[in-house]
Formats: sequence, structure tokens, C-alpha cells
Amino acid sequence: MVQQHSGDILIVDDTPDNLRVLSNLLAERQYKVRRVVSSRLALTVAQEAQPDLILLDIKMPELDGYQVCEYLKLNEATADIPVIFLSALDAPIDKVRAFTVGGVDFIAKPFSPEEVLVRIDTQLRLRRATQALQTINAELEARVRQRTIQLEQEITERRRAQEELLHRALHDDLTGLANRTLLLKRLQGVLTQAQARQQSNYAVLFLDCDRFKLVNDSLGHSTGDKLLIAISGRIDACLPAGATLARFGGDEFIALIERVEDAEAIAQVAERIQREVRSPFQLEQYEFSTSISIGIVLGHPRYEAAEHILRDADAAMYQAKAAGKGGYHIFSTDLHQSVHNHFSVEVALRTAIEANELQLKFQPIVELASGQLQGFEALLRWHHPERGFLLPKAFLPIAETSQIIEQVDFWVLERVCRTLASWQVEAILPSSFAVSVNISATHFATVDFAERVIQLLKSYNVDSRRLGIEITEHGLMMQSAVAVQALEQLHQQGIQIAIDDFGTGYSSLSYLHQYAIDVLKIDRSFVQQNHLRQQSTEISKAIISLASALDIKTVAEGVETAAERDILLHLGAQCAQGNFFSEPLDAAAAQTLLKAQVQ
Ligand code: C2E
Ligand code: CA
Ligand code: CA
Repeated sequence: MVQQHSGDILIVDDTPDNLRVLSNLLAERQYKVRRVVSSRLALTVAQEAQPDLILLDIKMPELDGYQVCEYLKLNEATADIPVIFLSALDAPIDKVRAFTVGGVDFIAKPFSPEEVLVRIDTQLRLRRATQALQTINAELEARVRQRTIQLEQEITERRRAQEELLHRALHDDLTGLANRTLLLKRLQGVLTQAQARQQSNYAVLFLDCDRFKLVNDSLGHSTGDKLLIAISGRIDACLPAGATLARFGGDEFIALIERVEDAEAIAQVAERIQREVRSPFQLEQYEFSTSISIGIVLGHPRYEAAEHILRDADAAMYQAKAAGKGGYHIFSTDLHQSVHNHFSVEVALRTAIEANELQLKFQPIVELASGQLQGFEALLRWHHPERGFLLPKAFLPIAETSQIIEQVDFWVLERVCRTLASWQVEAILPSSFAVSVNISATHFATVDFAERVIQLLKSYNVDSRRLGIEITEHGLMMQSAVAVQALEQLHQQGIQIAIDDFGTGYSSLSYLHQYAIDVLKIDRSFVQQNHLRQQSTEISKAIISLASALDIKTVAEGVETAAERDILLHLGAQCAQGNFFSEPLDAAAAQTLLKAQVQ
């Protein structure tokens, strides 16, 4: 076992006697003692193996004790070693110098052993305490450093988490685009800036995918999601740098573009988006092409709130859709007016129903070959107390954006049932005769629609084969599985299902056989013989031959001339309606016509 000594002491003294006495004394007390007689050697020894304490004689040849001490203090390795000076018998200690050069104590000769031991012990204790303190300090510093690093990591982590949370709160999970909240914030920022600078050179695009529901309903949401991501990527790529693209919900996107040069530049962006989106998407084993309707609002000083811009962009988008999908529409103040009218139209329509201001016209549908009356299409009119006689296009598009349309449609259905019931009683109905009613697509897809129609027929005791329902091709393409079910249920009852405005909705003809359809109504634009004559005829021809292959009846709309009638007859269309045969008639005139038929 190694002998534990209580300290390593270096004695430097050129007088061997002194050295011996001291070293014996210290060795007895378990100190490890090294002895050196030359001051130069002392420096080397102290540097190589640092003692815990140095007893240093002052009076020595070459370097005296003070100088040795100065050197020791200059050297980093030895600077901390406590030095106690030893005086010679004949020379008193210069105490001031002793402390200035870095000594910690001095012992004057002749020395008493007790005093030497006490002083050495004191210094060693002090040194140990200092060293312990230094170790503690160092440990403490290390711990603080480590904790600081940990804290920094924690802070970075927390900041990252916070940023992620913030990102999540402001972005759409699926596409990673800005969400509604972020968009509104940016838009409000742009508005404030525009007001401050008196320069409203921004634009907002409201983009809505056409017929997206169809993808979701037929191929499932996960395919729908993938398509949305792909679409959003293509839209984004068409926008100028710095624009914000947000997903606004479902299949709606909003783009905010700043520093817009003019309407023309924005129209170009819209066209580019529409072009890009129209080229097919390859997803899984499917290929999709879609179209996007875009409503555009150009910045204007009248805008103060972001919501107003979005409201107008939405209205413009509807306008674009109404004009036939896949197009864009720039919001104008006219439209602004009509949006403002929105609420009042709704209220007015409600009162119109109560005040009996609505009326039905009946337009005859005839069999082309025989000229026989096959039925009527019920068409809605509104006798507005101030605005006079209103056609559906003046109020129905607005009504269709609210629930009031359901009341309107049921008002028509009820009125038609009542009329049919009275004609049934008078027994003036030819054997295959039906009155068809236009139903708004949004309404058609509500859950209990079919049930309510069937109930209504029952309550008027009307044969369900006497009723037809017309839903536009656009409308059908937009609708969901619920709509398909409604079609099926109504068809089962014997109610005739007609697809209205056929040919304008880009629906794939191959979809047709999936639906329970009895009649295709060929849109007026393909019937009327205008400058597109050749192409129109070709389309009519294709529709008619497809319909006859699927055993579906065709009704050509808007026939105005004998020439048009002859072409349709030649192409094999079964029925037609239009001013050539008769304009829409009021109920009394319709009844007279019916009576004339039976005679
Ligand atoms: P639609 O179903 O395509 O109805 C045919 C439209 O063409 C009617 O316009 C009719 O008056 C018009 N028309 C008939 N013959 C001719 C012709 O020879 N030449 C021309 N240029 N036009 C002709 P109307 O009555 O203004 O109705 C417009 C649209 O409003 C209808 O288009 C239909 O989609 C909708 N609608 C009409 N009544 C109702 C209704 O009771 N409920 C719903 N939801 N929609 C209705
Ligand atoms: Ca119709
Ligand atoms: Ca039509």
C-alpha cells in the first residue's frame, strides 16, 4: 500500500545543514520532501513535478529567493504553488518584497519546529481548500455549460414545436397550402397597405374544381385527395412569384396576387391555370381531366374588408360556372349589385310565394313525326309588383344559392300536380303524356327529395307517369351518390327523368348508361341553325344515335324554324319543343290545346 503523505514539499536552500534539519522534521510528519541546493535547479524541479508547497531560502548565489519566486509565478505550471520564504540568520526578511513577488508567508531563522509545521500546515490546507474550490468551480462551470446547451436545445425544440403548431394552424393539412385563416390575414394586410398607398393593384382568384364530387363519389376520397394535391401543384406553378395560394375547403382554392399590372395580366394567369388543369392527370391506374371555374376580383378602393372581396370573388366564380364551367369571370359592379340583392331576392321570393306572384307557363312538347302533343314543360314566371314580369334567369340563379330554391321547386311541383289532377278529372290527357318540371341540381341531391315528390303525387292522386323531372347535365355531373339514388327511386315510380341542356356539360357519354334516364333534351345551341351549323348538326346526330342505342328518348329544345324541325326529323329525334311549335302558354291556353287534341 502506498504511504499516504500529507503533502509534497520542495525545500530550496544552498545550506545543506538547513536542508537536512528541515527535511527530517517534515519527513517525520509524513510529508514527502524533495531537496534542492541550487536555485536554477529548483525552477526545473518545480516545473517538472509540481510540489504542493515550496520552502525557499532567500539568500542564495545566482538567483536569490525573491527572483526564484518571481520566475515561479511567471510560469503557468508553477504559478499557483505557495511559496514560504526562509530567512538567513544574518539577513532580515524584506517582508514587503516577499509578498510583492508572490510569497504567502515567511519563516525567520532560527525557527522553532512547531512554528514551521503550523505555517506549512496552514498553507497546505489553504492550498487544498483553494484547489477544492477551483474543482468545484470548474465542475459548476461545466454543469452550467452543459445545462446551457441543454436549455438551448430545449428552447430550439420548443421553438420548432411552436413554429410547427403555428404552421399547422395556418396551413392546410392535405396540400400544405395556406388555409382560410392565413389567407384572410394576408388579404387584410394587402388591403391595409393598398389603402395606405392608395394603390389597389392586387387581385383575388376564387377557383373551384368542376365536377370534383364525381371523383370523390366514384373513386373514393383518397384518390380525390391525391387529385387535389396534384391540382393544387399545377395551379401554384401558374401563379407569379410571391402570390399566396390557399385551400379554402373541399375543392376550392383562393389565390392572392399582388402588384398586378392590369386585368389582362390576370386573365392570362386564369387562362394558363385552366389550360394546365385541363391536361390529364395520371393517378394510380386512372387518367383524369378536370376543369376549373374561376371568379376574379380586381383590387378596388371600395374594399375595406377581406370578407367582401371573397364574397365578390365567390359570386364571380358562380357566374363563371353558370356560363358553362371551365371559364373565368371578372367581378363587375353589376354583379356587385346583384350580390347585394341576394338577400332581398330571397326575402322577396318568400313573400312572392305567399302573395301568389309566381305563375307557371306550359310549353308544348310534340312528337316530330306526327305533330302530336306529348307533354308540356312547366316554366316559371314571376309577376313582380315593381319590376314586372320576370324570367327565371333574373331570379333563379340567386335563389339556387340559398334554400329558398327548395320552396320554389316544390311550389312548381305542387302547382303541376294540382293542374294534372284537374286534367285527369276532365279526362283530356292523351295516353302517353307528361308535364315536366325543372328541378335545381342542388335541391335534387337532398336526401328526402324523391320521397317528398312521391308523397306529393299520392296526395293529389296523380299517376306518376304523368310527371317528368328535368335536371341539367351540369347539375347531374356535380352531384353525388344521393342524386343517383334519387334518380333511381323516381324512375322506379314511373316518373320520367330528363337530362336538360344535354351536350353542354362535357359529361362523358359513357356515364349515361349508369343513370336511370328516360329522356335527353338536346340543348338549344345544337338545334338552332346558326353559323356553327355543320358542327351543331354533327353533335345532334351523335346525341340522337347514342340515345337511341341506349333506348333513351330525345327532345330537341328551342326549335324556331321549319328547317330546324326537318333536320331533326331527318336525324331521328323523337320530340321537340320551341317557339316554332308554340311559345310557353298559360294554364288556360294549355288546357284548351289539350282539349283540342282529344277531339
Ligand atoms: P330550360 O329548361 O332549358 O327551358 C327552356 C327555355 O327555353 C325556357 O326559357 C323557354 O322559354 C325557352 N325557349 C322555349 N322555346 C324557345 C325558342 O324557340 N327559342 C328560344 N330562344 N328560347 C326558347 P325560360 O322559361 O326563360 O327558362 C330558362 C331556364 O330557367 C330553363 O331552361 C330552366 O333551366 C330554368 N327554369 C325555368 N323554370 C324553372 C322552374 O320552375 N324551376 C327551376 N328550378 N328552373 C326553371
Ligand atoms: Ca328544362
Ligand atoms: Ca334546356
